[in-house]
Amino acid sequence: MTVATLQPNSELRDLYQELILDHSRRPRNFGKLGDATHIADGINPLCGDKLRLYLRLEDDQVVAAAFEGTGCAISVASASLLTEIVTGLDRTTALNYFEDVVAHLNGKLPAGLHTPELGRVQALEGVREFPARVKCATLAWQALESAISGQSRPATTE
Ligand code: ZN
Repeated sequence: MTVATLQPNSELRDLYQELILDHSRRPRNFGKLGDATHIADGINPLCGDKLRLYLRLEDDQVVAAAFEGTGCAISVASASLLTEIVTGLDRTTALNYFEDVVAHLNGKLPAGLHTPELGRVQALEGVREFPARVKCATLAWQALESAISGQSRPATTE
């Protein structure tokens, strides 16, 4: 399949790559969140990514998010972005993000992203060309869904 790429798109892609590199090298909110109210593990056996996501919810709002674990650059960058994005969101909006991000990265959200600020998550959309890496990018978001809905079993991409 050939994709015609215009100059602005490749510039955008460079920006996206920088964003991913930046977040994978210097992950935000990396570490344990001592006063977490919701915790979920995510495991992607295909790549070996493992993470634990911590959320603190107060009155249905995510007031803090953090993660720890090991994984490839994509999974770490995605988790790092997630912690920044979900902080301040209410539970419903956070779950909407989960649905939109997973749909988007699986190429099932063709147009009209209905979640505000999905923009930065689009940095990860390069993975759509590599199905195995989609699971790296969505892992943290699967964990988000598990954490918020209070499932005790680890989220897995399998
Ligand atoms: Zn990975």
